[in-house]
Amino acid sequence: MLLLLPATTKELADSMKIDEGIIGEGLEDLVRKGLVIPRIKDKKTSYFFVRSTLQFHDSSGIYEPAGEEFQELWKQWRETEFYELCREWERMPVPLMRVFPYPQAVKNAFRMLPHEDLNAIIAGARKIAVVKCVCRLLMKHCQRPLEVCMTFDAAADFALRRGVGKAIHADEAREISRQCSQEGMVPSNMNGARVTAMCFCCPDCCIFIQPQRQYGYRLLAPSRYEAVVDSDACNGCQSCEALCHFAAIQMEKSDSSESIRAVVHPEKCYGCGVCVVNCPVEAITLKPARPPDYIPEFGPRY
Ligand code: SF4
Ligand code: SF4
Repeated sequence: MLLLLPATTKELADSMKIDEGIIGEGLEDLVRKGLVIPRIKDKKTSYFFVRSTLQFHDSSGIYEPAGEEFQELWKQWRETEFYELCREWERMPVPLMRVFPYPQAVKNAFRMLPHEDLNAIIAGARKIAVVKCVCRLLMKHCQRPLEVCMTFDAAADFALRRGVGKAIHADEAREISRQCSQEGMVPSNMNGARVTAMCFCCPDCCIFIQPQRQYGYRLLAPSRYEAVVDSDACNGCQSCEALCHFAAIQMEKSDSSESIRAVVHPEKCYGCGVCVVNCPVEAITLKPARPPDYIPEFGPRY
């Protein structure tokens, strides 16, 4: 049946000479398992085989009834053949994913673009469903919160239909974002203006941050922002240096004083705002560093 896709249930029933109801049940099972993606156009549902290894990883990896042996196979793939895919992704004209800034970290957040402002994205969503982070579920390299990835609107409908998501209200989504910011997790998603989901990533398991940090693959673009430290306000506690997953902050002595202060190296900063949210004396802010048209209208197809 998979070889005949894309097709509607009727087209499959006709070509396979099997009852359409049986075909429909089989397709729904494959949708739940993450091998087949339904698309509705002009009130007609067509079914597509997953279009890429990444889509297959994300959709099937999150289907827990597949069992531990199946999850272990994805983990083995991540540790071996996956790096071939990283080399392919690196050849894309822009990085596949982009970091999003925590809105509470941005100075003058009211000037944020609606498609980069997580609070605005949450407020504007018709439906929100939270799903488990597929990277942490499969890799199990850290103990950070698992049920934090947000899906919006059609993506939320799809997660609920598959039974892999839980519907949440906007205030619950904002609370998840707040908790993730305190855990030092980095908001990220596809590098385009249309936001269908939001991940909260860690350096240990994330399919993009881990290879970028460990091997230097260019898979993530920074947000439009960068961190700026008020060195008069900084007390040298070093929390920000420890929390930054991109090694963008170093503690340095100033010429006039023996005490150390945080210094941001802008070329390494991804503008996530984790340092800002966790600074005990509010000595860091995120300021715009790139123009609005830095965000591509359409992200790269993967
Ligand atoms: S967290 Fe704040 S106070 Fe601590 S070193 Fe960083 S900027 Fe300074
Ligand atoms: S310095 Fe590090 S933690 Fe702070 S915004 Fe930049 S990348 Fe994020």
